[in-house]
Amino acid sequence: MGSVIKCVVYYKENFWRKKVLRKFGCLTVDDTKPDGTVPAIMGFILASKCRELSGLTKEERLKRICEIFSKVLGTDEALHPVHYEEKNWCEEEYSGGCYATYFPPGILTQYGRVLREPFGRLYFAGTETATEWSGYMEGAVEAGERAAREIMCAMGKLHPGQIWKPEPECLDVPALPFITTFWERNMPSVGGLIKFMGVSTFLFVTTAAGLCHWPRCCSCDMKCDTPNLAPNPSESRSDWDGRRWANGIQAQKHLVKTKTTFSQGSGLLLEET
Ligand SMILES: Cc1cc2nc3c(=O)[nH]c(=O)nc-3n(C[C@H](O)[C@H](O)[C@H](O)COP(=O)(O)OP(=O)(O)OC[C@H]3O[C@@H](n4cnc5c(N)ncnc54)[C@H](O)[C@@H]3O)c2cc1C
Repeated sequence: MGSVIKCVVYYKENFWRKKVLRKFGCLTVDDTKPDGTVPAIMGFILASKCRELSGLTKEERLKRICEIFSKVLGTDEALHPVHYEEKNWCEEEYSGGCYATYFPPGILTQYGRVLREPFGRLYFAGTETATEWSGYMEGAVEAGERAAREIMCAMGKLHPGQIWKPEPECLDVPALPFITTFWERNMPSVGGLIKFMGVSTFLFVTTAAGLCHWPRCCSCDMKCDTPNLAPNPSESRSDWDGRRWANGIQAQKHLVKTKTTFSQGSGLLLEET
């Protein structure tokens, strides 16, 4: 489970409304009631900060929180709360933390489906088994409904194809689209990047090695396997004719391939054939 302390610091006035409220080490929101009464700042102290501040007493934690509020909001008014409530979720006997169970990177993507596989007559409906909004209320509802349909399916009241249903859109609070950058959408995972670099390095090295060792026979700069038919200054005309005759068919094919890249010496061959 994650480590979180939920804190609510109450003040006589909501002085922060005169200022811009920002994030600072813990997440905070203006928790004043909608009618403006009970001014309060609510925040979560998370992860390593939570474990660090768990060693303090409640009063010491309040003092530290107020000092941070004061520094961020730029006013001493934050140092004078009228009341304080907190809940250290790590001390909860049954949950042992919050907001939910978290997994190291790769577990949900690789083994997520195993978490929701029924075990005999035991079905798993926790938010951790949801395919969307795992760790949130939406995930809890999705997982609960899916587990209920799994049980109905086991009882023969539903077809297996009816277990998974897309959640209907909320009409009261329509979902806003996620705006993502090109790199957020297309950036490979670390594993994917390592695989890509490994495969592309392997291909590059083998191609380079192949090109270096490819027999270069006809001086055409294309590293083809056609014998070099350019006239050799030391051979007689009849020897050259014989050599061309022996390789004529192969040379014809080669001419079609290399017409545009012929060097001067091979240009002779082009005229001859
Ligand atoms: C402080 C805090 C703030 C959060 N804020 C948000 C938020 O703003 N938005 C949001 O979407 N989500 C939030 N969450 C997360 C959200 O509350 C959970 O994701 C959701 O409640 C999980 O639902 P669940 O049904 O999976 O499990 P739970 O709600 O944990 O339900 C499990 C139930 O099983 C019971 N139980 C456990 N063991 C047994 C047993 N042996 N026998 C019988 N009963 C048992 C427990 O008592 C509990 O009632 C927050 C959570 C916390 C703790």
